[in-house]
Amino acid sequence: MENLVSQEWFYPADRSMAQMPRWEYHVHSDFSDGAASVSKTMAVARAKGIQRLIFTEHTEPELVADAGWFARYARTVRDLRRSEAGDMAVVLGLEVPILDLEGNLLATEEMLSESEFILGAVHAYPGYGWNLAGIDPALAIDLEFQGLLALIDHPRVHAIAHPGGVCGKYVTPFPMSLFEQVVVRAKARGKAIELNPAYHHPMAPFLEICRRHGVLLAPGSNAHHPDEIGLAWKVLQETEAQLWRKSGIIGKFT
Ligand SMILES: [Zn+2]
Ligand SMILES: [Zn+2]
Repeated sequence: MENLVSQEWFYPADRSMAQMPRWEYHVHSDFSDGAASVSKTMAVARAKGIQRLIFTEHTEPELVADAGWFARYARTVRDLRRSEAGDMAVVLGLEVPILDLEGNLLATEEMLSESEFILGAVHAYPGYGWNLAGIDPALAIDLEFQGLLALIDHPRVHAIAHPGGVCGKYVTPFPMSLFEQVVVRAKARGKAIELNPAYHHPMAPFLEICRRHGVLLAPGSNAHHPDEIGLAWKVLQETEAQLWRKSGIIGKFT
């Protein structure tokens, strides 16, 4: 699997977002907790002009049907992209959480070797599960940060899902200085950073840091319904337009 993903799949953050192809790299179908079938999701993505669609199903057992789900999912994506994708590239991927801070992943070897794209995620914090109520904010920040670094260093992981997002959404804002350290490490390792409007809101400060370091971007909407496909791409365009307007005004007066 390792060499299937090309660096050209990702977009350098120091290029104009206006040139970014319509990519969607974070989508759930009803093979995990998304609302629609793979076929319906592909049809909506095509209608929206998406050029590359990456399915990123969850691997947490509580979010999938049964032990045989992955083989059915892989077969379905491979079959339907031959018959229904048209010009759109469709990629078989997974959103894989870390199990511990050593970087072990919640996925079988079959899943890792059959998938064409691995979006690594910090979800449940090791030792804490999904229930983060009462967790010390400083500890949450540290667990998220260490988990993100472990994902970046994992040879099977191509892109990092919503960095800082779980901590920011459920516990306490993830420090931008640590987000920047994650970006720096990802840049050094050639891994992509997902900017995700469901977690990075407003997106401008996150995009500015990514742009400063020229890290590779993966636009991911965390779409659980086909209507949400393409949102990350759209928000990146809008955010850059805002930044240009802002710098245009500064330019006039200085
Ligand atoms: Zn996630
Ligand atoms: Zn997701």
